[in-house]
Amino acid sequence: MGCLFCDICSGRIPSRRVHDDEQCVAFEDIHPQAPTHLLVVPREHLATLNDASEQHEALLGHLVRVAGDLARTRGLADGGYRLVVNCGEGAGQSVFHLHLHLLGGRRLGWPPG
Ligand code: 5GP
Ligand code: ZN
Repeated sequence: MGCLFCDICSGRIPSRRVHDDEQCVAFEDIHPQAPTHLLVVPREHLATLNDASEQHEALLGHLVRVAGDLARTRGLADGGYRLVVNCGEGAGQSVFHLHLHLLGGRRLGWPPG
């Protein structure tokens, strides 16, 4: 079975891309939950965070650093923003290719639902 985010990373499925490098791609979420809602996605297919191991440490750090840079360039650094990784169905994960949500541009409640 194919993977939606593998297809978006390779460009087979179009997306509104905001960042692209050798390790990851970032693009706008199709159903935004905030004025800024981006997904930062590793090119390597990992279904969930449960599949990440020590060998992925640098990649995970890269994803978080890219998300921080995107937040800053979008003017979210002062107002606040959130990075979210939903891991597993019970946490609301619906696409089983690891990704970070970057949400900002509105007040974000806590705890999340
Ligand atoms: P999850 O629920 O797995 O944490 O997040 C998956 C996210 O992918 C959701 O926020 C959903 O709106 C987004 N999404 C699902 N299909 C597509 C798509 O085809 N294109 C884009 N850009 N986002 C998608
Ligand atoms: Zn994939």
